[in-house]
Amino acid sequence: MIDLSRLYDVLIVGGGNAALCAAITARRTGASVLLLEHAPQAMRGGNSRHTRNLRAMHDAPTPVQTEAYGEDEYWDDLARVTGGETDERLARMTIRDSAGLAPWLEQCGVRFQPSLSGTLSLSRTNAFFLGGGKALLNACYATAERLGVDIVYETEVQSLLFEGGTVTGAAIAGPAGALTVRAKAFVASCGGFQANIAWLKQYWGEAADNFLIRGTPYASGRILKNLLEQGAAPVGDPTQCHAVAVDARAPRFDGGIVTRLDCVPFGIVVGRDGRRFYDEGEDVWPKRYAIWGRLVALQPGQIAYAIIDAKAETLFMPSVFPAIRAESIADLAGRLGLDPGVLVKTVSEYNAAVRPGSFDSTRLDECRTEGLAPPKTHWARAIDTPPFLGYPLRPGITFTYLGVKVDDSARVVMADGGRCANLYASGEIMAGNILGRGYLAGFGMTIGAVFGRIAGREAARHARN
Ligand SMILES: Cc1cc2nc3c(=O)[nH]c(=O)nc-3n(C[C@H](O)[C@H](O)[C@H](O)COP(=O)(O)OP(=O)(O)OC[C@H]3O[C@@H](n4cnc5c(N)ncnc54)[C@H](O)[C@@H]3O)c2cc1C
Repeated sequence: MIDLSRLYDVLIVGGGNAALCAAITARRTGASVLLLEHAPQAMRGGNSRHTRNLRAMHDAPTPVQTEAYGEDEYWDDLARVTGGETDERLARMTIRDSAGLAPWLEQCGVRFQPSLSGTLSLSRTNAFFLGGGKALLNACYATAERLGVDIVYETEVQSLLFEGGTVTGAAIAGPAGALTVRAKAFVASCGGFQANIAWLKQYWGEAADNFLIRGTPYASGRILKNLLEQGAAPVGDPTQCHAVAVDARAPRFDGGIVTRLDCVPFGIVVGRDGRRFYDEGEDVWPKRYAIWGRLVALQPGQIAYAIIDAKAETLFMPSVFPAIRAESIADLAGRLGLDPGVLVKTVSEYNAAVRPGSFDSTRLDECRTEGLAPPKTHWARAIDTPPFLGYPLRPGITFTYLGVKVDDSARVVMADGGRCANLYASGEIMAGNILGRGYLAGFGMTIGAVFGRIAGREAARHARN
């Protein structure tokens, strides 16, 4: 029986990867640990449930990663995608610590597997979880329970109570009712605010009503907002989020990885007016997939349609929903709810602009259009072979970038430059310290695991002293 009236050493808000890494680490030092997860047990684990891999540095091949991926190359990749919006000290610390994550997680019961093949080639840079994020979480929850971490589900932490520069308690609501739980140290590992549509609307207006949230509906940002209101220093651009193009038929929340559509480079994408709006072949897909959520979000009605023909059908991983098919472009337009005359004209103009070239889906080939605006600069082939296939696209929000500032002990930094004495943060809620813009596949889980372990260790140390 869990006694919520006791004084815990460490209280952890959240139940995803970052929270579990913190809980396990703190408990292993002997601290008493309470983990509060808003979701019910069957839905536990936030966005971490949907993941497949983490990005880890290694100087030689490992059982799960090929070749080598050293600190400097990792850092260069990060510096490039963030355009310098990162804290180099925290970033390099994260990169170096990533080398030990796979063995550490294996000790927690997580199993890895050789890289999955697919559209994003990551076998060198990323370590893949056998069974995906859900299996990783099940293993970590089992380890946490075995170690004696107290875990309570369906319990929302509604605010952290500050007295001076110290957090004294957490106001919670759950099956036990509304009460205050006390602890000596606190770790906020409760994700971003992407599931809070009202908050997204502050930046996106009514368009946010058409966004699909790829992960957990429990990412309300309630504690993020609470901390910022109580003087925690913000990091990250509040208007920025990681967003990909997902199948418009996906559910509002939790559609996960299987709703992403990777056919864009092999066809054309039109808005609801039936016209193209961006170069679908600008660069290789791993470098471009994450811009398409925003591109669709900026379209009228936040909807777009990917159009391909039979030649392209097997070149990408399809979404979980079958393509809408037709024997002619006019028919396909009708089935997609587009004006057939406009779509036929768009496809004809595009086909006429395609220059002959040798097609190669695996590299930046020379198949391009000429005299077309916007151009298609690679993988441009005529859309002329029935059946023709269409997929409706919506913006799929992965996570938001606004967070709280932390130092290298994962301690929350206040707007006046001071530190909160006993409050730590890990995971998405502080990822903006390192990932101010852009994204590197697998880096979300790496940040969560690295800072989760630091936060757990430091919170337990604070509680001891
Ligand atoms: C479809 C999809 C695929 C992805 N694939 C990958 C991948 O392969 N590799 C990768 O590195 N990243 C991936 N990501 C990103 C990755 O999921 C996140 O970066 C990572 O999971 C963040 O971990 P976290 O623990 O900070 O947050 P989460 O895992 O989201 O956990 C947050 C937790 O906090 C809880 N919570 C929120 N508010 C409260 C509150 N007030 N009180 C109590 N509990 C609360 C939630 O219920 C949840 O359990 C993917 C994301 C999605 C959506």
